[in-house]
Amino acid sequence: MTLRNTPPTAELQALDAAHHMHPFTANTALGKKGARIITHAEGVRLTDSDGAELIDGMAGLWCVNIGYGRHELAEAAARQMRELPYYNTFFQTTHVPALQLAAKLAELAPGDLNHVFFAGSGSEANDTNIRMVRQYWALKGQPERRTIIARHNGYHGSTMGGGSLGGMAGMHAQGGLPIPGIVHIDQPYWYGEGGDMTPADFGLARARQLEEKIIELGAENVAAFIAEPVQGAGGVIIPPETYWPEIQRIVDKYGILLIADEVITGFGRTGYWFGSQSYGIRPHIMTIAKGLSSGYQPIGGSIICDEVAQTIGQDEFNHGYTYSGHPVAAAVALENLRILQEEDIIDRVRTHTAPHLAQAWGSLADHPLVGEAVSRGMMASLALTPDKASRARFAADAGTVGYICREYSFGNNLVMRHVGDRMIIAPPLVISAADIDELVIRARKTLDQTLDHLHREGLFQAAA
Ligand SMILES: *Cc1c(COP(=O)(O)O)cnc(C)c1O
Repeated sequence: MTLRNTPPTAELQALDAAHHMHPFTANTALGKKGARIITHAEGVRLTDSDGAELIDGMAGLWCVNIGYGRHELAEAAARQMRELPYYNTFFQTTHVPALQLAAKLAELAPGDLNHVFFAGSGSEANDTNIRMVRQYWALKGQPERRTIIARHNGYHGSTMGGGSLGGMAGMHAQGGLPIPGIVHIDQPYWYGEGGDMTPADFGLARARQLEEKIIELGAENVAAFIAEPVQGAGGVIIPPETYWPEIQRIVDKYGILLIADEVITGFGRTGYWFGSQSYGIRPHIMTIAKGLSSGYQPIGGSIICDEVAQTIGQDEFNHGYTYSGHPVAAAVALENLRILQEEDIIDRVRTHTAPHLAQAWGSLADHPLVGEAVSRGMMASLALTPDKASRARFAADAGTVGYICREYSFGNNLVMRHVGDRMIIAPPLVISAADIDELVIRARKTLDQTLDHLHREGLFQAAA
């Protein structure tokens, strides 16, 4: 191991607590406890400042698709920084990394999704999408088509626009979200909300809420529907197979635009380049970020179909970011896409590692604490429950048990996240079958410890 000249952990934690405000965190409480300091990483493993090695079951934040330690990306960044570290694309100029990346994305994206508008992140790209779909309808002579339909418990980022498209109650409760003109329908979460319906019937019912909402608003007022092919931050919620075909039928029938937020599902996560291909849907716009650069550089964007791009192009679109198409980020993304493609990483997920994960992760369903253990491609989740048969919730507040489970997982050197009382993973796409097995061993140990803890504390109890 390389020796690193790092100050002691406690010293770093004190500085972090004093000055660094963490996203989505109660910072005072974290400051008292001390954040775990990640110092380096290789493949699917992180190392912390005390030398402990963790399996990164979350690929960072769903983004490190090709795994850590790929020096080719560092070389691409260094080369680009020496040659042209920055230039903009606002005023009749362009540069090679941005145009090459746009062309590459047009080649990889399905159908006539042939045009790319770059952003620095997924949130920014969704803000672009809000303005773009409204401007599209304005140019079509239908400016009253402004409302965007999204979903409760969807996640589309944390800017004012992205947070409004998202349906996270905790986010809407702070800072005046959602902004006007965005409405939400229910999610296709059969395990949690399906009651006595079959998954197939429930999927249809939830899709038909889109049609009901369009009729309620008047189709002439609706610009677009946005959704993640598989909900990520909402808890890796895999929709019933009936859901997306019915959504596509409704979108086609009413002629509204479909935005697939592929920030997580893009770049191989489902075993296809894009989740839309995995579900056979035809979006007009796809939001991308995260796996686009495997997280090695911050970059996002929107991939846009011919019709929308050509319409938008008729007039000046008064929108853009200083770092739209940043040359270093674009060069790194290009190198990442080259590796994904030339090493057949996505094919291997579809034909080998995803089936292996489905089988290994699925075996956790026999655990007394687990109500369902599901996966799609390289994203997977567990529902924790005090009563498998009835899919009951815990008597304790939602998230209490999930948090306990996550603490044990962290202690077992497995990064697994909790969303309420669901446990979720989305490991790097390059994870080996042996590492999947090791991950599942640690997850099972974590579940055993959690169950013991719940019995000890009287928490293994269903809500009334
Ligand atoms: C992470 C995420 C975003 C936001 O991306 P940022 O880069 O964090 O702004 C948007 N949509 C989905 C589906 C995401 O998972």
